[in-house]
Amino acid sequence: MIPRTFIDDLLNRVDIVDVISKSVTLKKSGSNLQGLCPFHQEKSPSFSVSETKQFYHCFGCGAHGSAINFLMEYAGLSFVDAIEDLASTIGLSVPKEAPSAVGMAIQEQAVALTELLQKATNWYQES
Ligand SMILES: [Zn+2]
Repeated sequence: MIPRTFIDDLLNRVDIVDVISKSVTLKKSGSNLQGLCPFHQEKSPSFSVSETKQFYHCFGCGAHGSAINFLMEYAGLSFVDAIEDLASTIGLSVPKEAPSAVGMAIQEQAVALTELLQKATNWYQES
């Protein structure tokens, strides 16, 4: 099981723009970057990456998440593989605490839940 603190630290150190720009051509648009969404077919860019919030969001299909989510969705990596992949790009090795399938499932749920809360919070703030 990967400690939550490591994941937070990793997300603080990795720049989501670097991660996504390897797969998607991004152009500066105001305070965000924009490009063609890799998750649905489109001709005009509605895929937006926020450098300050370290999140991506597609206004076309609703794809949304962190650098870890991007690797999972785009490259089809598992949660753990996505973290290992990110960590290796900045020369970190992933600490492991007694791996167990159950623990991992709980952790993935926790991340999903955190995201859900984040989305809800954003939605309330915007409306
Ligand atoms: Zn999209």
